[in-house]
Amino acid sequence: MDEEKKNGQTEITDTQKKRTVYLDHAATTYVDKRVLKEMLPYFTDKFGNANSQHGFGRDTASALALARKRTAAAINAKPEEIYFTSSGSEADNWALRGIAHAHKSKGNHIITTAIEHPAIYKTCQELEHDGFAITYLPVDGDGSVSPDVLAAAITDKTILVSIMFANNEIGTVLPIRELAKVAKAHKILFHTDAVQAVGSIAVNVKDLGVDLLSLSGHKFYGPKGVGALYVRTGIKISRLISGGEQERGLRGGTSNTPSIVGLGKAIELATTDLESQSKKIARLRDYFVKEVEKRIPEVKFNGSRTARLPGNANFSFRYIEGESILFSLDLAGIAASSGSACSSNSLEPSRVLLSIGVPVGIAHGSIRFSFGKANTKADVDYVLEVLENKIQKLRDMSPLYNRTSDEPIPMIGGCKI
Ligand SMILES: *Cc1c(COP(=O)(O)O)cnc(C)c1O
Repeated sequence: MDEEKKNGQTEITDTQKKRTVYLDHAATTYVDKRVLKEMLPYFTDKFGNANSQHGFGRDTASALALARKRTAAAINAKPEEIYFTSSGSEADNWALRGIAHAHKSKGNHIITTAIEHPAIYKTCQELEHDGFAITYLPVDGDGSVSPDVLAAAITDKTILVSIMFANNEIGTVLPIRELAKVAKAHKILFHTDAVQAVGSIAVNVKDLGVDLLSLSGHKFYGPKGVGALYVRTGIKISRLISGGEQERGLRGGTSNTPSIVGLGKAIELATTDLESQSKKIARLRDYFVKEVEKRIPEVKFNGSRTARLPGNANFSFRYIEGESILFSLDLAGIAASSGSACSSNSLEPSRVLLSIGVPVGIAHGSIRFSFGKANTKADVDYVLEVLENKIQKLRDMSPLYNRTSDEPIPMIGGCKI
């Protein structure tokens, strides 16, 4: 089959013949074949250290330069504003700590939101222990933050605002341009975790007016374990890793050439194809959402219906646990993700769902379906059929189904449902 049709996904082998549908692209994506092809020589023939003074080194250095150029072009930055990291998480950690420590003489206050990815959320909690004051802005029912809410939280000690571009659980896209404008009016630096946005929606750092931005290769059909932090020219950020002069002396360590080359190719492909791919993916997602709401009673759609990533659908199915649904789907070869962190050692449902006002009991029955470029309508029809059937079966077994709403909620499997 030609590459276009397969969307760069490796063909299914005999041992994988059982029907599988992958709807967890927000967790990670496969590496596009075209990306892998560019990466492979950098493991073997072109293995030089980019800092070496010979032909092998120069080959690698020029490959890194091309990847930096491609990454910059994809977000309308300059190549010298791109710093490669080992992940989106590393870029997020570095943005927060690097700015906090480089600017602490100006103040100790940082503003973020209640719905950030753990790479931001936990780093903020740690910065609180280090003496920084953090404001976690509340979000509205869609998971968005208004510029007024941000403006009201700013104090004369505020040095940084970090607000995600698009939420990884509920897919809501936040008004980053408007939010960054508020920060700029107060001369406060603005960082956005754009890990879910890059490759799915247009991201233009100049147009957005952001000072720092994180992205990650494996969310847009590149390899895992490589990301980048955009830092606008002229912004002071403290060094992440002391060592060699890699990444302009701010992040030492011999560059991970194959992965950086892969990220560069993947971001170029993703942004070139962006409009047609995201339209195709959104059409499938919209069809899925419409059919779920038509066929399955007592579902709650989570997140914004309009300001939303093309590939994300998040539902709470009343009276059942997300974990049981996931398990049933998995048995049928369907990969999705639970919006709930409910497990034997945690009774807490998703912080994001609670923040948008989903009641604890309902939040536990939440599933994220995230679509990607290799999904087809036949995949979606299969998932709908399985889902309708499994939800009914699980509800038939649930002592909660058909109960009246004011009865007490019993505990099942360690979770309040
Ligand atoms: C996946 C993700 C990250 C972490 O990126 P890694 O490269 O997996 O470390 C950070 N933020 C968001 C919003 C994400 O979806």
